[in-house]
Amino acid sequence: MPITLTWTGHATWLIDTGAGTLLVDPFFDECPTASMKSQDVSCDAILVTHGHFDHVADLVSIAKRTKAKVFCNWEIAQWLGKHGVENVQPMNLGGRVAVPGGTAKMEIAHHSSSLPDGTYGGNPAGWLLDVGGVRAYIAGDTSLFSDMERIGRAADGRGIDVAVLPIGDLFTMGPDDSLEAIRLLAPRVVLPSHYGTWPPIEQDARGWAKRVTEQGRAEPHVLAPGGSIRISVR
Ligand SMILES: [Zn+2]
Repeated sequence: MPITLTWTGHATWLIDTGAGTLLVDPFFDECPTASMKSQDVSCDAILVTHGHFDHVADLVSIAKRTKAKVFCNWEIAQWLGKHGVENVQPMNLGGRVAVPGGTAKMEIAHHSSSLPDGTYGGNPAGWLLDVGGVRAYIAGDTSLFSDMERIGRAADGRGIDVAVLPIGDLFTMGPDDSLEAIRLLAPRVVLPSHYGTWPPIEQDARGWAKRVTEQGRAEPHVLAPGGSIRISVR
């Protein structure tokens, strides 16, 4: 069963698993490059990587309107409770949960995590999805780290079908380190994220894709905000 990943801009993704839609890091209404408004989003589950504004800005409103279950770390779950969001599954690094179409595992990321009101947002995370028979890795906001090799092996050695990596630099890894991340993860397809939203994280995504193609380890796809890609089971 193929899955469809849609980039709505910045680090926000909609993933249609065939059994439902997962929303990752909702940031729409104040995102200068967002392809849609938060009120038009429909989803069946919401996955959160960390507490920063550019990842949770529309989380409370979408969670309340859609009643979609939110999967996030313990600290963000407490914050959501204070804001009246009830359908929340708190978890932490290493945990795996059932989501529409398969499973989601909370993986490590090297970053920071505070919530918009300044409270502690717990550890930042990435997500390793096994949905519709496809392995998808959403790195979240992170620097390069050597455990990406372990994540790339996944649990049963089947490897990663598609990886979403930040390339914006400054707050996350940039294009240079993403090439090493691709070497470690060995995904079939790689999609860039967390760039182009504001001038400090502007990047030449076409130039990045050319370098990835020359490296010859993964097939890059640069999406425009609102663009989608279908990934089939290998
Ligand atoms: Zn961010």
